[in-house]
Amino acid sequence: MSELADRLVSGDRAALARAITLVESTRADHQGDARALLTDVMEHTGGAVRIGLTGVPGVGKSTLIKAFGTFLTRQGHKVAVLAVDPSSTRTKGSILGDKTRMGALATDPDAFIRPSPSAGTLGGVTRKTRESLLLCEAAGFDVVIIETVGVGQSETEIAGMVDVFVALMLPGAGDELQGIKKGLLEHAEILFVNKADGGNEKRARRAARDLEAALHLFTPTNPHWQPKVLTGSALEGRGMDTLWEAITAHRRAMQAAGAFDARRREQQVGWMRAMVEAMVLERFKASPAIRSALPGLESDVADGSLPASEAAERLIALWTKTRFD
Ligand code: GDP
Repeated sequence: MSELADRLVSGDRAALARAITLVESTRADHQGDARALLTDVMEHTGGAVRIGLTGVPGVGKSTLIKAFGTFLTRQGHKVAVLAVDPSSTRTKGSILGDKTRMGALATDPDAFIRPSPSAGTLGGVTRKTRESLLLCEAAGFDVVIIETVGVGQSETEIAGMVDVFVALMLPGAGDELQGIKKGLLEHAEILFVNKADGGNEKRARRAARDLEAALHLFTPTNPHWQPKVLTGSALEGRGMDTLWEAITAHRRAMQAAGAFDARRREQQVGWMRAMVEAMVLERFKASPAIRSALPGLESDVADGSLPASEAAERLIALWTKTRFD
């Protein structure tokens, strides 16, 4: 195991790919190995700019990642791209993080692209992504982009693992309102109105103004940063420099306020708490005593002969008892 850790820390891409496979595996022995590996490399983590990127399908996420990733690797950065897509399965082909959508970035030696792990609960997928993020950092990637589709819950999950949250928007009328409805604006710290090209520039600028106006209706969730609205074209590679400037300005503002480290600390503790909850539930459900008692209790609750609270209490008591037998 420590050999894999050594190779990972030395920046070996094959080792990184193997390590992520280990983290994604559902086999108990693999999970144990993954935990040991993460513990080994922990001191080498934390060094990346962690960027969350979201937006509705078709807004231009993969096109932007291609352009932005290439812009960054040309400046000497090492860029990793991870995807969170709870709807995808390996067999169906992942929508996000698909290497064929990333063009030249997929073969760039300074870029690492990892598609979404196979379908599971959102919590399960994001847990794997969080751990993969740490592995990418240990392997020396100094920018990690986490891509997700702009659908409700995943935003909150991603906001909980990145330093800065970027939302891609379309210049079309009404989309800014759509963003508000979806709660997208709640987490977005940088908004990038994409497709400001081919005669769309004016519309994009108007959308940006509308978004700015809409943002003023919100109490910012981050008191140290007023969300920035940018326009650009992923297709033409325009606006990549201002996007990076906004990301670094955000980082400076957070650091100056002492909020950067505080956010990371909170996120780390939050991950642990979320994991405890998930693990307790998982083990509860897997317990043979619970599995045999559950159908009977459920039918008693269903036909009204037992209060739900009493059934719940009995299940917990049963589980507690079997754990100490
Ligand atoms: P995703 O689903 O968010 O990953 O979106 P894609 O990156 O796959 O882009 C969807 C479509 O929009 C593709 O046909 C892209 O070529 C196009 N597209 C992406 N960015 C731009 C842009 O900046 N300008 C224009 N005109 N088209 C774009």
